[in-house]
This record gives sequence, structure tokens and C-alpha cells, in this order.
Amino acid sequence: MNDSVRPAAGPTDLPSESGASAPIVVVGSINADLSTRVSRHPRPGETLHGTGGQVRPGGKGANQAAAAALMGGRVAMVGAVGTDAMASDALSVLEGSGADLTAVRRVDGPTGLAVVTVSEDGENTIVVVPGANGAMDADAVGACSEVIASARVVVLQGEIPREGIEAAARLATGRVILNPAPVLELDAEVLCSADPLVVNEHEAALVLAQLTAGPGSVDGLSPADLARALHEAGIRTLVLTLGAAGALVGTPTADGWDLQEAPGLSVDAVDTTGAGDAFVGALAVRLSEDAALVDAARFATRVAAASVTRDGAQSSYPREGEGLPGNG
Ligand code: ATP
Repeated sequence: MNDSVRPAAGPTDLPSESGASAPIVVVGSINADLSTRVSRHPRPGETLHGTGGQVRPGGKGANQAAAAALMGGRVAMVGAVGTDAMASDALSVLEGSGADLTAVRRVDGPTGLAVVTVSEDGENTIVVVPGANGAMDADAVGACSEVIASARVVVLQGEIPREGIEAAARLATGRVILNPAPVLELDAEVLCSADPLVVNEHEAALVLAQLTAGPGSVDGLSPADLARALHEAGIRTLVLTLGAAGALVGTPTADGWDLQEAPGLSVDAVDTTGAGDAFVGALAVRLSEDAALVDAARFATRVAAASVTRDGAQSSYPREGEGLPGNG
């Protein structure tokens, strides 16, 4: 484990970015995911036996950083873990991925925790405790201003406080990939400066409602219509992910806006957990190499498709040099 994040008793570490520098900087959440299986979900006040109890690394920020680093990207992670034993679990894959963790703080209290319970009929309940991720406010992010400002690509999600996300977007001088999941109220200027905004259809509808200041019905809108509506509401470049169907990529042209497809790849899906994060991590790798957005998205569909053929999130991500589904 990197010294700056070694869990130990003692005072909270000061945020540190010394030595952290990379073309791809991910500012976001780091969690331990505890998953259990039950025959059915317990009623209030009831205790049931479950199976599993496996702790795996998670958090959208850590997932995306791991996916990018495993694919050969040079990545620095800006985030926080707690002083508990879960910190090691949360960082276990990131540490072996090659990502620079110098700017991961250790703050007093628990590491971010997601407790996932899956019933036999496949219904999930998830309780997320933000823990140390809640410390990633504007000041904590501002303490890493140099690493953020020097990145070619800054990658942001919705699992740290709004102020931290907005501060990171404003500090960035390179392009910002914004994946507002979960969707939270973000400044319209930050949403509209994303290049690209990466959302699934559900998130797209919520962002559209924010930008148009009303719930406005999106029922019956095709993905292409939804993408165009987001563009008309001010979104600059867009990747709309469509699960197994792949993604739509919207970019400005000299005389308007162009929508292109990054078709999904047909694979034997085992577990789609974290597929969206694999997609974003891979997108960041190609964008940091100056690829066109549609080419980066087509590469990302290959990496995400590989990830769904294996169990788990970070444990399912392919490494650079591994054969990927699809051509190219
Ligand atoms: P999640 O929250 O489950 O990580 P998401 O809702 O953010 O995912 P999706 O649109 O479901 O995002 O998936 C992201 C990308 O992963 C898709 O654009 C696609 O490229 C790939 N993908 C997802 N599911 C499959 C699948 N069953 N087969 C092949 N590719 C898939």
C-alpha cells in the first residue's frame, strides 16, 4: 500500500499531491463494497441468514481509475479513504493497477462503504455510506489543484460532494469527462462544459430536467431524440450509453451537431456491474491520446463488453494487451 494511504491510528493526513502527476486524473469516490445474498429481503425488525459477505473494491471514481490504469493509461487518483481496515480492501485493485495514489488522502473515520444485498429473484438493495468520500469538498479538491490543472483529461462522477466536483471541473485546463452518476444538482455551466458528458438514459433524463428547469416528459423519446434534446439544452459533447446496445456519440460540427453510433458488442454477459465505469475509464485512455470521441467510444464499448463477461466490477476489468471483443 502507498504510504500516503496506509491506514493507521493517528491524526488525519494532510492532503498531499507531491509527486502525483498524470495525463489522466480521476477525482472521485473510493469504496469498499460488501455484498451478501439472501433468499428474500428482510422485513423491518427481522433478521435473516445470508451468504456471501464478500468485500470488494468499488466506488465509481476508483472503478474508473482502475479501468483506465489497467488499460495502460497513466492515471492519478484524487480521493479519500478512512482510517479503518476497509481502506485496504477499497484500494486493493487500484494499488496493483499502476495508478498513482499519492493524492489519495486518509481522513479520520470510515472508508466509503456500499452494502449490497441481492435476493434470489435478483432484486438489489444498496445502502451507501459516503464515509471519507464526504471529505472531498472544494478545499480538499483545491489542495490538489496542480495535479488537476496539469492533466490532459480529468474524470469526474457524482459520488463526492457537489462542491468538490464543481471545484475540480473549474480547476481543469484539459478536457473534463463528466459522468454524473448518481445525478446530483450541478451548476449548469459545469454540465455544459463537459467534453463529453457521459450518461445512461435514466441519467440523461434527469440532467435534461435540470437543464430545462422542469420534469418535462421524456417518455417515448428515442435515444437519438434524448441526445438531441440534451444538445439543445446546452450539452456540448455527449456519450449516451445504452447497455448492451452500446452508445450514441454527439459532437458539434461546422453546421450543427452530429450523432454517431458506437454499437454494442455481443458477448455472453455474466455480470454487468461496473460496466459503465469500465467504459468511462477506457474512454479516458483514448481521449488522453487525442483520439476522436467516436473512436474513443468504440474502444470503450470493447473494454466494457470484456468487463461484463466476468464477475464483479474492478475484478472484471481487462488489462492492456488482453484480447478484447470486437475488431480493431
Ligand atoms: P452500470 O451502472 O451498470 O455500470 P451504466 O448504466 O452506467 O452501467 P450501461 O449503459 O449499462 O451503463 O453500460 C455501459 C456500457 O457497457 C455500454 O455502453 C456498453 O458498451 C457496455 N455494456 C453494458 N452491458 C453490456 C452487455 N450486456 N453486453 C455488451 N456490452 C455491454
